[in-house]
Amino acid sequence: TKTNLERFLHETIRSYEKAYKRNVELHIDEDLTTLTDAQKLKQLLYIFMDNARKYSEDGIHVRVFKEKDYACIQIIDHGIGIAEADIERVFDRFYRIDKARSRKSGGVGLGLALAKDLAKAVGAELFLQSEEEVGTKATIKLPLSQ
Ligand code: ATP
Repeated sequence: TKTNLERFLHETIRSYEKAYKRNVELHIDEDLTTLTDAQKLKQLLYIFMDNARKYSEDGIHVRVFKEKDYACIQIIDHGIGIAEADIERVFDRFYRIDKARSRKSGGVGLGLALAKDLAKAVGAELFLQSEEEVGTKATIKLPLSQ
């Protein structure tokens, strides 16, 4: 269904902040409407916001911008980051980078594997950029509706 990103993201972020007591800032370049399954897109955002929350200590940023016929939603954190050698593997089921490092945050390493399946279901592409000790940027790229 057609989903207005501004309204949808405001609601999703507000409920996330309430549940997790963590500040999430939303920056929207342009009001965009996409064709997607909003419920699944919400789950997808929760996975990335959860990771940003678990692996960083300060605020989480969500940015929305247009790229050709696509809407890009970026979830940005300034946390511990991911080493280049691990980037490909974090999407694997049960893969967690440093067992000791990750253990205190709980989880079993299923978040990003599920994100991959959800992205497929909503017709989105995922990109993950990260640098150790600098932070992580996850991008969800969705087709715009006409
Ligand atoms: P869960 O099953 O609860 O999602 P998880 O967070 O360990 O647990 P994934 O979301 O699949 O599982 O992430 C896999 C691994 O990738 C994490 O264990 C963590 O090491 C790394 N990772 C994911 N997102 C980030 C991030 N934003 N910053 C740093 N490391 C991250």
